[in-house]
Amino acid sequence: MNIRVRFAPSPTGFLHVGGLRTALYNYLFAKHNGGKFILRIEDTDRTRFVENAQENLIKSLRWAGIEFDESPEIGGDFGPYIQSERFHLYKKYGTELIENGSAYYAFDTAEELDAMRERQQKAGIAPKYDRSVMRNEFTLGKDETQKLINDGTAYCIRLKVPHNDEITFTDLIRGYVSVIGRDVDDQILLKSDGFPTYHLANVIDDHLMGITHIIRGEEWIPSTPKHILLYKAFGWECPLFAHLPLLLNRDKTKLSKRQGSVAVEDFVAKGYFKEAFVNFIALLGWNPSADREIFDFQELINTFKLEKVNKSGAVFDTQKLDWMNGQYLKKLPISYMASILKPELSNFNYGDVSDDYLGKVIDLFKERITFLKDVLTFGNYMFEKPKEFEADYKEKHWKEGTATMMQPLIDEFRNINDWSHNLLHDATKQFVDANKLKLKDVIHPLRLMITGKSVGAGMFETMAVLGKKECIERFDEFMG
Ligand code: GLU
Repeated sequence: MNIRVRFAPSPTGFLHVGGLRTALYNYLFAKHNGGKFILRIEDTDRTRFVENAQENLIKSLRWAGIEFDESPEIGGDFGPYIQSERFHLYKKYGTELIENGSAYYAFDTAEELDAMRERQQKAGIAPKYDRSVMRNEFTLGKDETQKLINDGTAYCIRLKVPHNDEITFTDLIRGYVSVIGRDVDDQILLKSDGFPTYHLANVIDDHLMGITHIIRGEEWIPSTPKHILLYKAFGWECPLFAHLPLLLNRDKTKLSKRQGSVAVEDFVAKGYFKEAFVNFIALLGWNPSADREIFDFQELINTFKLEKVNKSGAVFDTQKLDWMNGQYLKKLPISYMASILKPELSNFNYGDVSDDYLGKVIDLFKERITFLKDVLTFGNYMFEKPKEFEADYKEKHWKEGTATMMQPLIDEFRNINDWSHNLLHDATKQFVDANKLKLKDVIHPLRLMITGKSVGAGMFETMAVLGKKECIERFDEFMG
C-alpha cells in the first residue's frame, strides 16, 4: 500500500501543541513506512479567517523539523491544497448525494433551529436535527421542495443518517468503535451560502488526495461515523482511522490555555531546543522503550508504531519538558549550541565574542541551566565585568581582614602562566594549607570578586575560561 497521510489544520492563528503532536505522529508514521505526508489547509469556515495563520503554522512545523511532501507551498499532483481554492468541487459532490438519496434539502431558518433545540432541551433530550418535524424534503414533499428551490429560498444540504444502522470502525489505537445511527446528527454538508462544512470537504479531499490513514485527535471521534457514512454514500473506500489520546494538564483536566502556554511559538520563544521539544511531544501518548526517554528524530522515525500509542490521556508536564531540555544541553554538540546562541548575542552589549570562547562558556554552564540562553543572562559575568555584587553574599564572605587574607593568593596567581583549572586549584590548595585555612574560606571571596554572584560553575573552571588577564583585572579592581 502506498501510504499517504495528511495534517489538515484549520488556520486559527497559531500551532497548538496538540496540533504539533498530530502533525508529528503523521510525519513519523509516513517516514517509518516510506509514505507521503501532505499538508492541507482546512479554511472552509471563512468567519474564522486569521491573517498569516498559514505562514505561522508552517513556520512552527518547520522549526520542529517537520516537512511535507505535498503542500500549498510545494504543490503536488493532488492540489490545490487549500480548501478555499477547491470550493468548486464540493457542490457537485453534495448534489450527487442528494441524487443517490444519502442527503436531503432543508430550509429551516436559524430561529426555527434554535426553537427546535430549546424544545429538545426542555424535554431533556440531546439536541439533534429532527427531520420528521422540521422544514425539509421529507415534511414538505418533492414538489414543494423544488418550488422553494426555484423561488430562491435559502437551503442547506443535510446527511440522511440511517437511524437503525450500526456504524462501526476499527480504530488503530482504540479498537472497535460502534454507534447507532439514531445517535448521530443529520449533519449539514453544504451550508446555505453554498460553502461546504468541515465534514463534507474533509471526506471529499481525503478521498481525492488518496489518504490511506487518518491520524487525528480524539476530539474528532464523534465526527468519524458521519464521515464513514459519507464514504459509503459516495461508494468510496474508507481510510483507516487512528484517534490520538487527549492532552491533559497536570491536574488531569483537558489541556487549556488557562494553565499555561499551548502555542508552539511560545515554547520557541522560551528557548527550548527543538530537539528536546519534539522528543517531549513525541512521548505524549507513546514511548518506544520502557527504560529511556531521550530519542533523536531518526530514532523516533525508526521506532514509531501507531499500534503502540496509548488510549488514555497524556499529561503535558512542563517540568518534564524542562528536564528534557536540560538533557539536551548536556548532549548536543557545543558548536551547534554556539551557533544557536551567537545571533542572541546582539541583544546584549557584550562586544566581540569568538565562537571558541562562546563554546567554552556553554560547556561551563551546560550542566547547571535549563535553557541555553541562560548562558547569556545567568552567565553575564563571562562576557562583562560584574556590575553588581550580591549584597548578602558580600556581607557574609567579605569581612574585615578578607582583603589582607586574599592579597598574597592573588599575588601568587600573578605568577601562574599556565592558567589552567588544575594549576589554579593546586596553587590555591597549597596556599590554604600553608595558612591553615580551608578551601571554602577563599573560594567564596574569589567567586565574589570574579562573578559578583553566590552561585555559578566551578570556581577554577570559571577562572580558566575567563583567562588570566581578565581575572587579575577583576581582583585588582575589587581590591581597589
Ligand atoms: N480541520 C480539522 C482540524 O482543525 C481537521 C481534523 C481532521 O484531521 O480530520 O483539526
